[in-house]
Amino acid sequence: MNRELKVEFPHVYCELDFTNPLELSVATILSAQCTDVRVNMVTPALFAKYRTAADYAGADRTELEEMIRTTGFYRNKANSIIGLGQALVERFDGEVPHTLKELVSLPGFGRKTANVVLGNAFDIPGITVDTHFSRLVQRWGWTTETDPVKIEHAVGELFERKEWTNLSHRVIFHGRRVCHARKPACGVCVLAKDCPSVGLGPLDKAEAAKLVKGPETDHILQLAGISA
Ligand code: SF4
Repeated sequence: MNRELKVEFPHVYCELDFTNPLELSVATILSAQCTDVRVNMVTPALFAKYRTAADYAGADRTELEEMIRTTGFYRNKANSIIGLGQALVERFDGEVPHTLKELVSLPGFGRKTANVVLGNAFDIPGITVDTHFSRLVQRWGWTTETDPVKIEHAVGELFERKEWTNLSHRVIFHGRRVCHARKPACGVCVLAKDCPSVGLGPLDKAEAAKLVKGPETDHILQLAGISA
């Protein structure tokens, strides 16, 4: 299934825009309960104004809240971001650390955020268990666990470490574009022959084709034998 996912998504990447570990940390905090597209609209101005951990530590709360308001839960997120800046300055010389243990000690960081930063900013393999990842690995029977940490360990045992980061991207891409929560596009899915949950969504190709989203839609439909 991972091989099929590689054919479906030969080029995977973090869908949050960033140029350094601090930017990715802030973007990942902002992405809670919000789409990456919306976060990417907010971050250019934010990253231009706040360039260092010390900048976030000393941020004017009202101003910061206003800049991130459209990502939702902006008061909590502002708390986390200011707290992150302060913790980085106080404990890590203003740099984002690169171990799971240190990362999860930071405000606004859970295991998911930590693994996103490890895998994408530091090239240290990490499995990112978000809502898409949880739903899909259960649909595929890769694990029956429902707790994110247990899912992370169970799936980690199935794959070589070096696969973890890009495997996470592929699974999440497939969840965002094809295997939706409510109506998966089973009729055009590259995994249909291997998926124990095939039939959860429409098997009719034309109907399923309409459900596919995202920039790889033409490629996905071509793999299903539908020319764009
Ligand atoms: S066959 Fe359907 S349920 Fe299975 S992975 Fe594909 S879209 Fe999801």
